[in-house]
Amino acid sequence: MVRNAIVVGGGIGGLTAATALAQRGVAVTLTEQAPEITEVGAGLQISPNGLAVLRALGLEQALDRRGAVQAEAVVLEDFRKGRQVARLDLRRLQGQRYLFVHRADLVAVLVRAAQEANVSIELGRRAVAVVPAPLSEVRYEDGSAARAELVVCADGLHSVGRESITGPTTAQFTGQVAWRALVPNPEKEPIAKVTMGPGRHVVRYPLRGGDMTNIVAVQEREAWAEEGWHQSDDPANLRAAFADFGDPVRALLAAVEEVKLWGLFRHPVAETWVKHSAALLGDAAHPTLPFMAQGANLALEDAWVLARVAVTGDDLSRYQVLRRARAARVVSAASGNAWKYHLRPGPVRWAAHRALSMGSRLAPGVMMSQFDWIYRHDVTD
Ligand SMILES: Cc1cc2nc3c(=O)[nH]c(=O)nc-3n(C[C@H](O)[C@H](O)[C@H](O)COP(=O)(O)OP(=O)(O)OC[C@H]3O[C@@H](n4cnc5c(N)ncnc54)[C@H](O)[C@@H]3O)c2cc1C
Repeated sequence: MVRNAIVVGGGIGGLTAATALAQRGVAVTLTEQAPEITEVGAGLQISPNGLAVLRALGLEQALDRRGAVQAEAVVLEDFRKGRQVARLDLRRLQGQRYLFVHRADLVAVLVRAAQEANVSIELGRRAVAVVPAPLSEVRYEDGSAARAELVVCADGLHSVGRESITGPTTAQFTGQVAWRALVPNPEKEPIAKVTMGPGRHVVRYPLRGGDMTNIVAVQEREAWAEEGWHQSDDPANLRAAFADFGDPVRALLAAVEEVKLWGLFRHPVAETWVKHSAALLGDAAHPTLPFMAQGANLALEDAWVLARVAVTGDDLSRYQVLRRARAARVVSAASGNAWKYHLRPGPVRWAAHRALSMGSRLAPGVMMSQFDWIYRHDVTD
């Protein structure tokens, strides 16, 4: 059994792994590069598979207290006048909850849980290398180093541990960018709405008890954009890209005052997740396009499984055996999903929308059950 661990990265995956390990009696140090643990002002869809982990850690009610919105449906709309094309009824998830959560709220809940489980959180500590070994080592920018029986690389897309564990990998620009913004919420329904236009779509859903709306707007384009939330953009660019969308999207975009732009890249899922006592987790192992809203949910699943394997005394490689195929399947489903929202006017779009519309009216259960393999997967069982 692992007795001590260093977790590199205090995002959703790292905080969850640290908490899950510490709750099982492992002495955990979490090192985060930022001077404080914060999150971008944006929303997150937590589906039943991710929520199962938060519930098992005892955190579901804390999320509810912070105004998590329980989703009732996902509605697909046409871009011109917002005509409904299809509706996925999330109440058919039978007792399972699908939540819209503010990322900062989830992170605050996780930080508190980590502190209560006695995780030692060290801020402003940027790792520059991870050296996998029977006692793996983390080297920091300030010249210090530390070793542990388990080193968890939960340091996201640009992980410093990824190369030393799995070797070099390259990412490919998908030709798509995503803008993100929060605006006051004019629509109170607990519904995610996906408005589909040619080469573009906009997703919006309510946050914090319905006080705000989270907007993710995706456009196919050739101009490259950086991968990460550091790049601000002029809201006028967002409005121009969706100028031919009708209300209510147009009115929502008119209210945007601040917006971030993220270039969407396709990354291979890491071939090797575990080397000696170092392991990759979350986006460090399997960066995921946002089209299934599963990146953070997969990180939650990883965290639970890694903690369980680490304390049962199993070989750590069991973690990869339990996780890689599932993560790869979700990543591939997300990669294959965008085109469905972006069809150009013409017979293919007409037929696809008609099939969706008929499917959601005549066989709503079948529409929903195609996602069972994602949502009903409970790693805590
Ligand atoms: C447009 C968009 C929408 C999305 N929507 C959803 C959604 O609705 N649902 C969902 O499940 N997922 C969603 N995702 C994906 C989700 O945001 C990520 O998969 C998730 O945040 C990954 O968590 P992580 O902990 O692995 O990495 P991160 O959240 O990136 O955390 C990594 C942490 O490590 C720290 N760090 C980095 N390098 C170092 C270093 N060298 N030393 C120390 N610390 C370091 C960082 O500061 C950060 O705190 C979306 C993504 C995008 C782009």
